[in-house]
Amino acid sequence: MITDLCLARVLSEEDQESCGSKCLNDHYKLQDEFAQNYKIFTDEKCRNYIFYPYDLCLLPYLNELLQNGINHFRLECQYYPAEKLIEVFKIYRQALRDAQNPTGGQADNFNRLLRLSPEGLAAVPWIHKSKAGI
Ligand SMILES: [Zn+2]
Repeated sequence: MITDLCLARVLSEEDQESCGSKCLNDHYKLQDEFAQNYKIFTDEKCRNYIFYPYDLCLLPYLNELLQNGINHFRLECQYYPAEKLIEVFKIYRQALRDAQNPTGGQADNFNRLLRLSPEGLAAVPWIHKSKAGI
């Protein structure tokens, strides 16, 4: 989710027109009622990018996606450190090779990814509906 609202400025106790780029220098997060933390990254225009608590991962569905004709994939890892990015790339490369082998499972590849993401992985974001059903 992207918002032009600078959450650092809005949530600040100080009444100010600008956050003074504070949002660029500090790490902010939102926390829901389940104590899940949503990371916030900010660009130079105070635009806030809010991320799900868990990295989204479709690797468990890779074989099924390939079987249904999807053969181009994009890894959204722009905020990963270089070392993690390289490992994730290697895992997906191996997963694509394993998908060619009918006996090859993806469990090992998924477990390798999970070790790189100790906060967890999810195929879909889990969002709790409010009592009003919104
Ligand atoms: Zn800001």
